[in-house]
Amino acid sequence: MENGKTQALSRVSVSGLRGVGPKVAERLAKVGVASVQDLLFHLPLRYQDRTRLVPLAALRPGTEALVEGEVADAGIGYGRRRSLKVWLADASGQAGVLLRFFHFSGNQIAALKPGTRLRCFGEVRHGPQSLEMVHPEYRSCDGDELPSLEDTLTPVYPTTEGLQQSSWLMLTEQALALLEQDAAVPDEWLPEEILQRFGFPSLAAALRLLHRPPNSIPLGDLCDRRHPALRRLAFDELVAHQLGLRRLRHHQKRIQAPILGGDQSLRARLLAGLPFALTAAQRRVAEEIAADLRQPRPMLRLLQGDVGSGKTVVAALASLQAVESGRQVALMAPTELLSEQHLRNLRTWLQPLGLDPLWLTGRHKGRERAELVARIAAGEAPVLIGTHALFQEDVRFRDLGLVIVDEQHRFGVHQRMQLKEKGARQAQVPHQLIMTATPIPRSLAMTLYADLDLSVIDELPPGRTPVTTVAVPDNRRAEVIDRVREACAQGRQAYWVCTLIDESEALQCQAAEDTAKALAEALPDLRVGLVHGRLKAAEREPVMADFAAGALDLLVATTVIEVGVDVPNASLMIIENPERLGLAQLHQLRGRVGRGAVQSHCVMLYHAPLSRQARARLAILRESTDGFEIARKDLKLRGPGEVLGTKQTGEMQFRIADPAGDEDLLPAAQQTADILLDRHPGHVRPLIDRWLAGRAEYGRV
Ligand code: ADP
Ligand code: MG
Repeated sequence: MENGKTQALSRVSVSGLRGVGPKVAERLAKVGVASVQDLLFHLPLRYQDRTRLVPLAALRPGTEALVEGEVADAGIGYGRRRSLKVWLADASGQAGVLLRFFHFSGNQIAALKPGTRLRCFGEVRHGPQSLEMVHPEYRSCDGDELPSLEDTLTPVYPTTEGLQQSSWLMLTEQALALLEQDAAVPDEWLPEEILQRFGFPSLAAALRLLHRPPNSIPLGDLCDRRHPALRRLAFDELVAHQLGLRRLRHHQKRIQAPILGGDQSLRARLLAGLPFALTAAQRRVAEEIAADLRQPRPMLRLLQGDVGSGKTVVAALASLQAVESGRQVALMAPTELLSEQHLRNLRTWLQPLGLDPLWLTGRHKGRERAELVARIAAGEAPVLIGTHALFQEDVRFRDLGLVIVDEQHRFGVHQRMQLKEKGARQAQVPHQLIMTATPIPRSLAMTLYADLDLSVIDELPPGRTPVTTVAVPDNRRAEVIDRVREACAQGRQAYWVCTLIDESEALQCQAAEDTAKALAEALPDLRVGLVHGRLKAAEREPVMADFAAGALDLLVATTVIEVGVDVPNASLMIIENPERLGLAQLHQLRGRVGRGAVQSHCVMLYHAPLSRQARARLAILRESTDGFEIARKDLKLRGPGEVLGTKQTGEMQFRIADPAGDEDLLPAAQQTADILLDRHPGHVRPLIDRWLAGRAEYGRV
C-alpha cells in the first residue's frame, strides 16, 4: 500500500517532545533516535513483570520478581564484604528471601527494621544460605494505601549514559500517544500479500503492543519471540537488512577486479605433489572460486568448512591462480600464530614450485619491517602471508589480485569492510575470499552475509575417527591425570589446554606455566612441553617441532594451540574450564585430536557448579562432533551476536530480529526483498533507513 501521510513520523523530530532539551536530544542521537519514528522503533530489550506478586516460596533463581512480605530480621553481616542483610517472609512458607545491600545508610537500617511490610522488585539468585535479592528496588507498604500493581509489563530499553529507564518510559509514552492519532501511523513498506500471508498485525498495533504489553500476554511468549507483534517487526528488520546487504553487494559488483585466468601451470604441480587427493567437496569449492576469479568483477565469497575440512589447500589453489596470472595474493589470519601455521603449510607446498611466501606480522619491526614492506611494494614475492599488519596504511601492494582472510571461528565483518575501503582507493579492487570454520546454516548465512557468495566444504577428508568427549568436574583432576599417564604409556600424545578467558594474556600464560610445572611433577615419567602466546616464535617453534616429532608426550598450552598444530599421534585432549569458552572455539580446539586413525578422546575438565546454560552447552559438544550441528544449537542457545562475535563490535546487530530464532522467516524475507526491489523500488530506501540509518557499513553506498 502506498502512503500519503501528511506528517510522517519519520519527519517529526523528538525535540518537540516534552522533556527533550538539547542535552537529551544529543543523548538520543547517540543511540540513533532523532525522529518520533526512531523512538517507536527503539524497542525494549526485555520486560519486567510487575503486574503480579510472586509468593516467596515460588521464587526461582535467575528470574526477576515482584514480592511482598514482612521484615523478619535485619542486621549487618561481615562476610567477605560488609552488607546489610534483611530477611523477608510472607505467608507462603518459612523459606523467605534475603535482601542484601552492600551500600546502605543509617536511614535505611532504621527503615528496614523487623515488622516493616515491603514490596520489592529484583533479580533472585542463589545465596550461600537462601535465595537472595541484591539491591532490590523496594518501598514500604505499611500505610493504608497499598501501591497498585502495574497493568502492563514494564519495558526495559537499551540505553546510553544519562538516559534513565524512566526517561524512556516518558518519551515512548508520548510517541505512543501520537501513534493513537490516526494520521500518524508509521509508513508500511511491505507488500500487502506478504502481510496477509503471515497474518501480521499492523505496524501501529505491533509497536503499541511491544512498548506496553498487556499482562494477559505471557512473558514467555515475548521472551521466546513467539508473539506475532514481535515477529512482524523482526520481519520488517530482516527485510531491511537483506536490502542493505544487497545494495552493498550490488555496489561492489560494479567495481572492476583483475581477471585471474591462470594457466594451471602451478596448480597442476601443486595437486600432483600433494600426498592426498582432494575430496569431492574441496574440488567443488575450488572450482567455484576459480570461476569467480576469472571474472572482471570482484569475487566476494565466504568459504565455510568445519575444522580439519581442508580449507588451506583450497586457499593455496586460489593463491596459485592469482600467481599464475601475474598477481600478488595476501593471506591474512587473525593471529600471528595462525599466520605462522599458514606460512609453514604454504612453504611446504609452494617451495617445490619455486615460490617462497613472505611473512609480515606485528612482530616485524624497524628495519626488518621496512625491508618487507619494500619487497611487497616491489612485487618481489607474489605470496604474502600475515596478520592485519599486511593491511596497515604504509603497506602498498604492487598488484594485489586476491585477498584471502582466514577468520577461523571469528567472523570478521569489520575487517571485511576495511578491506573494501582499502581496495576502493584503487581503480580495481582485489578479489576476496573469506574462510571460516564457524559453519552456520545456509539460510542464516545467506541472511547475515547476503553480500557474499557462499561455498561450503561439507565433507571431511577420509580416515578421521570422531572424537569421544566427556565432561568431568575438576575435583576429579587426579583421575584425569592418570588418564594422561596411561595414554602416554601406550605411546600416544596428549594436549592439556589451560583457559582463562576473562583474564589478561599475562595471567593466562602464568596459569599455563603453573599447570605445566604441576603436571611435570605429577607425571615424572613424561616429557612435558609448554607453549603460550607470550613465547617468541623462536622459543615456541622447537617445542612444537618436538611435540610433532614425538619427542614430547604432553603439550601444555593456552588456547594458542587452537591453531598451529597437526599431530596425528595426539589422541587425548584435556580442556580446563571449558565453560568459559565458546562452543565454536571448543570445537576448534578439539579438532586438534582425532586426526589419526586411532580413537581420540577429549576431556572437558569443568569447574562445578555449572550454570544451566553452561551444562547445556557442554552437552552439545559431548553429543556431537559435527560443526554444523554444534553451531546451529549454539545459535539457538546464545543468539548470533554472541556466537558470531559481532556483539561487542556492534556490527551485524539486529535490533529486534534474531536470525537464528526467526529462521523460518528468512526465506520470506529474501523473497520480500526481491519483490520490493522489483516492484516497489521506492520502498527500499525508507525501509533501510528505518532500521539501518547511521550505520557505516550500509551508509557508504
Ligand atoms: P582447516 O579447514 O581446519 O583449515 P586444514 O586445511 O588445516 O583444515 O586441513 C587439515 C588437515 O587435513 C591438514 O593436515 C591437511 O593437510 C589435511 N588435508 C586437507 N585436505 C585433505 C584431503 N583431501 N585428504 C587428506 N588430508 C587432507
Ligand atoms: Mg585452517
